[in-house]
Amino acid sequence: MLLEINDVHVHYHKVAALKGIDMEVPDDGIVTIIGANGAGKSTTLRAISGLVGISKGAIVFAGKRIDGLAPEKIVALGIAHVPEGRRVFPGLTVEENLRTGAFLRHDHTEVAKDLDEVFQHFPRLKERRKQWARSLSGGEQQMLAIGRALMSRPKMLVLDEPSMGLSPVMVQEIARIVRDIVHRGVPVVLVEQNAELALRLARFAYVLETGSIALQGPAHELHDNAHIRRAYLGG
Ligand code: ATP
Repeated sequence: MLLEINDVHVHYHKVAALKGIDMEVPDDGIVTIIGANGAGKSTTLRAISGLVGISKGAIVFAGKRIDGLAPEKIVALGIAHVPEGRRVFPGLTVEENLRTGAFLRHDHTEVAKDLDEVFQHFPRLKERRKQWARSLSGGEQQMLAIGRALMSRPKMLVLDEPSMGLSPVMVQEIARIVRDIVHRGVPVVLVEQNAELALRLARFAYVLETGSIALQGPAHELHDNAHIRRAYLGG
């Protein structure tokens, strides 16, 4: 397994947000985490990227224990996190935003190559490379946030609600891009409110309910599960 989460607990002050979760992410494909608001999905991603500390358990990435490491160390080990709400730098251009994703790298020729590759994934970003990020649409900003994460040349990508607030057409476009990234060999951990989309894209799924894993299994099985259909897929 590329990533192993073992009995992880997270507390915000005294409130338990994760109450002992176990997850595995193989080195290919998409693993999704679905669940209601406040179930702990974003907290799981933040724990993986070192943005919140864990109070118990262990997180192992590529054979190395990463819980307790600083977020930038975790990025350097190969985990790139695209947070909810696509936080791009509005006052930087598209290209400058992308280059910030490579801030830990010194291999300038390779960075230039990766910039070209990101522009292949996202032709719209190439057209707008000199524009301020603030002038982009929501979907384009999501593309920029994903592109920036790819600039760190990650071994694994962690995406928090990439479809949030986007038009149906743009949601399909983002889905295509996520599939494309996986085909190029980068596994993805995907958190989504849009459970239909998530279960269609992923190979394996975890369902979080108030900080615990209520259900897990192959995504197509969960898609057909009566409880999941009722709770998350609108009947
Ligand atoms: P959402 O889709 O609404 O983001 P989520 O499943 O991602 O939901 P989390 O954001 O991980 O859920 O939140 C899990 C629990 O932790 C919730 O009860 C939430 O209120 C609480 N929580 C999250 N962030 C903080 C914080 N910074 N301080 C205190 N409590 C927090």
